[in-house]
Amino acid sequence: MKRILIGFLIALATLTADAKLKVVATTPDLASIAQAIGSQEIELTTMARPTEDPHFVDAKPSFIVKLNRADVLIHGGAELESGWLRPLLDGARNAKIVSAAKGNVRCCEGVRMLEVPTELDRSKGDIHAAGNPHFLVDPLNAKIVAEHIADAFAELDSTNSALYRANLKKFNDELETKLAGWQKTLEPFKGRHLVAYHNSWPYFANRFGLKIELFLEPKPGIPPSPAHLASVIAKMKEENAHIIIVDPYLNRKTAETVARSTDATVVDVSQFPGGVKGTEGGYLALMDYLVNTVAKALAEKK
Ligand SMILES: [Zn+2]
Repeated sequence: MKRILIGFLIALATLTADAKLKVVATTPDLASIAQAIGSQEIELTTMARPTEDPHFVDAKPSFIVKLNRADVLIHGGAELESGWLRPLLDGARNAKIVSAAKGNVRCCEGVRMLEVPTELDRSKGDIHAAGNPHFLVDPLNAKIVAEHIADAFAELDSTNSALYRANLKKFNDELETKLAGWQKTLEPFKGRHLVAYHNSWPYFANRFGLKIELFLEPKPGIPPSPAHLASVIAKMKEENAHIIIVDPYLNRKTAETVARSTDATVVDVSQFPGGVKGTEGGYLALMDYLVNTVAKALAEKK
């Protein structure tokens, strides 16, 4: 009897040692970085689809099950996901991933947040009430996020900590090399104006010296009104802006209408790997696409 019990315990220990870290990421950009760091040692679930509005993700009941069993939750932490994530987390009742637990990776920690309002604007429907949450399209912020993820994985699964550290270094080295290239590609367009449908590009604009300050939405999350669009059209003429960038979940038709009256081009962009064609390869492929697509559009519209 004793021998059977010992055998059982050994088997159980082996099983536990082999178990992969169960990781849930809220959005596909965070998931892509988590995969680069965790490689084969994690079992990854991504909640938002790449073409879905990250502010309003369809909160499927199956997510509660995933969150209930998760060892790690990776989220932006800047209120991008809070509207739909909070009720899911409450339903999941998992102490390992609640706020302040080791398995709760709040990626915005250490990121210099832009557009933090001095007074709360929530009542007016602004969905960026805690500052602009779209920080990951600045590659230097991706480095911060990768480090948070590697720290959490290494602490929760110390057996593989050397692998996570090595993967972090590889990710950072590749990103640094690419960043130098991206900066070179966009260098000739410094100071040029682009128009965006939604205000999700200040970090990208800042990093690469572009101006993306005009939006088809009067406020983040508020649909464009005819009066607002008329003022956008007037400003586009003033600023000589001829590119309108649109994410897949936004209304491209509105952008096309504005483009017709301003001789502008509508350019499809995404903040998520897989959101537009050619970005399926992950975060670095997405940044490649964004830099090259924006540079090409700006070169064509002088
Ligand atoms: Zn937003």
